[in-house]
Amino acid sequence: MDQHDRTQHYIGGQWVQPSGRDRIAVVNPATEQVIGHVPAGTVDDVDRAVTAARNAFDPGVSMAERRDRVARLVAALEPRLPDIATTIGQEIGAPLKVQRGVQTAVPMAIASSYRDLLEETNFEEQVGNSLVIREPYGVVGAITPWNYPLYQVVAKVLPAVAAGCTVVLKPSEVAPLSGYQFVEAAHEAGLPPGVLNLVTGYGPEVGEAVAGHPGVDLVSFTGSTATGRRVASIAADTIKKVCLELGGKSANIILDDADLDTAVKVGVGNAFLNSGQTCAAWTRMLVPESRYNEALLLARQAAQRYTVGDPFDPATRLGPLASQTQQARVRGYIERAVAGGARLVTGGPEPARERGYFIAPTVLADVHSASELAQQEVFGPVLAVMSYRDDDEALRIANDTMYGLSGAIWSADHRRAIALARQIQTGQLDINGAPYNPRAPFGGYKKSGIGRELGPAGLDEYLQTKSVQLPDSVISQQE
Ligand code: NAD
Repeated sequence: MDQHDRTQHYIGGQWVQPSGRDRIAVVNPATEQVIGHVPAGTVDDVDRAVTAARNAFDPGVSMAERRDRVARLVAALEPRLPDIATTIGQEIGAPLKVQRGVQTAVPMAIASSYRDLLEETNFEEQVGNSLVIREPYGVVGAITPWNYPLYQVVAKVLPAVAAGCTVVLKPSEVAPLSGYQFVEAAHEAGLPPGVLNLVTGYGPEVGEAVAGHPGVDLVSFTGSTATGRRVASIAADTIKKVCLELGGKSANIILDDADLDTAVKVGVGNAFLNSGQTCAAWTRMLVPESRYNEALLLARQAAQRYTVGDPFDPATRLGPLASQTQQARVRGYIERAVAGGARLVTGGPEPARERGYFIAPTVLADVHSASELAQQEVFGPVLAVMSYRDDDEALRIANDTMYGLSGAIWSADHRRAIALARQIQTGQLDINGAPYNPRAPFGGYKKSGIGRELGPAGLDEYLQTKSVQLPDSVISQQE
């Protein structure tokens, strides 16, 4: 028996046997060892989970009950964070600092923000003679990827529960183990049976069964744009609401008056965070022609400071990629970019260590905007540095992508930066390395998605709006 063997799904408040016998092996990408298994769920498992979620859904669930569910879930999650951090280190190879920071502390901040938001949010308002009521949307199907496994679960389940919805969760088959720990927290928190259900399995079987199930009212999906398209098309048959958080190819625009040193250093750090497996990563660094060589030098220095190695060694800053498939994909992107004329500044396609799915931090120069590397999401520690002549060209390059998820602007003049920010077709932008805000709406323009997560905007996605027109007699009584 491996360290993390899980043999059951969680349905209707109980750990239950799966309907089939197939299992999925979970591999530690730093060691290439199998560290556990989870059930490969089936359509029948999804059906049982949706039935439990439907039975548990009460459109009239009280605000007091919703607050209580969220508060108890937050309280049960917090003490589990160190264990979950370790699991994420094992299932995707995130280094210690990443495990403890963005992989667990950030989701905890998001979870707490929903507890606080429920205290502040008004779910009813009067518009003219109408009482406008925001009600729970219904049964939610939540499908999540592997790169931030706890974050993505929290960013869906917490607002859904806060809104009064019930959930069927399908985590990524690559990193499902932390999802089990989250569900254990929910069980301990005493969420009523059926409010949260977990079915593990592969996308084409379990994911599609969730997206297509007539008992699911809303499907919230995070993952690649190609899979998002498939999920949306399956969901269309049953006219369910679809929220999509998809890929990105975000631009880090360094203007000519910026503090180049800081902008490049922070930019490299952002691009390589979580081994570059971050949908919002600033993977295209845009630098004025006059400062291009200086920026390349700084980027090379910053990249070469990244120690690649065992995620559990405190000296390690860059872990492996999450899977062998991912490593092969990233190698292919680097090889094709170099063959196509991009200049390798540091790093390269060779595996950075003998064992494990490592890729060295890689910086490429002279990348053209039309090239594959500038257009497609690589999802590895690979930064493309591009030059531009003037602000208009910077803007044109920044917007020259099918994606629109995130980005950054650096300038000594914040008015100039904000004016530019208004013209960039993207859901988020950070100016001069401004701090992360767990309540700021997060989501994509263009093919980066539909809808928003986090904060009040994230809560809204899980609410239906009802208008009740009031007769004059009621209005006059109120006056
Ligand atoms: P993926 O699209 O392969 O898988 C995501 C989830 O969808 C997994 O749970 C998977 O099992 C499931 N799935 C796969 N095929 C399916 C199908 N046919 N029907 C239903 N579900 C299916 O993505 P991934 O490789 O796990 O994650 C990486 C991708 O996720 C990247 O493109 C990244 O940009 C994106 N991502 C986006 C955000 C965001 O918030 N915008 C956040 C993180 C990751």
